[in-house]
Amino acid sequence: MKNEKLILIVEDEEAIRTGLVDVFVYHGYQVEFAEDGAEGLKMALTGRYALIILDVMLPSLNGYDICKEIREQDKSQPIIMLTAKTADEDIIQGLTLGADDYVAKPFSVAQLVLRVQAVLRRSFDTVGSSVIQLVGGKTIDLINYSVSHDGIETPLTRREVEVIEYLLKYPMRPVSREELLSNIWGYQPEMAIETRTVDIHIAKIRKKIEQNPKNPNYLVTVRGAGYKMLTPHSDTRT
Ligand code: CA
Repeated sequence: MKNEKLILIVEDEEAIRTGLVDVFVYHGYQVEFAEDGAEGLKMALTGRYALIILDVMLPSLNGYDICKEIREQDKSQPIIMLTAKTADEDIIQGLTLGADDYVAKPFSVAQLVLRVQAVLRRSFDTVGSSVIQLVGGKTIDLINYSVSHDGIETPLTRREVEVIEYLLKYPMRPVSREELLSNIWGYQPEMAIETRTVDIHIAKIRKKIEQNPKNPNYLVTVRGAGYKMLTPHSDTRT
């Protein structure tokens, strides 16, 4: 059972860990922490945390492996990764394994708090329930977070499902990156967040659902306006 106010911080650097604990306690959260990867994973798998902040470089088990293990058990556990490096590959690897967001070190604590609040605002929302059959035999299952094709299942992350669901809600108009950031990630315009997170998610969804991700048929770009999701048949389950 999740405690909506309880955050787990897995970070081996004492100065950062202590600073984070203090700041989240100050903002009214309860905080537990781990200094070591294996210990952090063990705590994370209890499923008690509203949100988990995961450092990447940790003793005994790194943040990516922890994220992967958590996702195997709980697809909807909110996770924010603290990445030391800003290389795209690292960010993409983190998001591929299902983190909801990443913050690159060195980061502003105020910004991390805003991102945590944004993720938490979204996290207790219910997920819609529908199955979409695409031409060419692919099926998007928004209940079970997967795309299947010829008997092969590719998992979707919670964020990817949320993006698809949001686009499906507005089939008649393009949805801008800013609108997705605001409504899916919960960011406000004054937070001046870069929109690359949206682009990475769109690219990853296309890779999973499109026959040719470079020339998409379903998740299309409307130049200068945003994205649209076109579906041939939608079958909504209740
Ligand atoms: Ca570290």
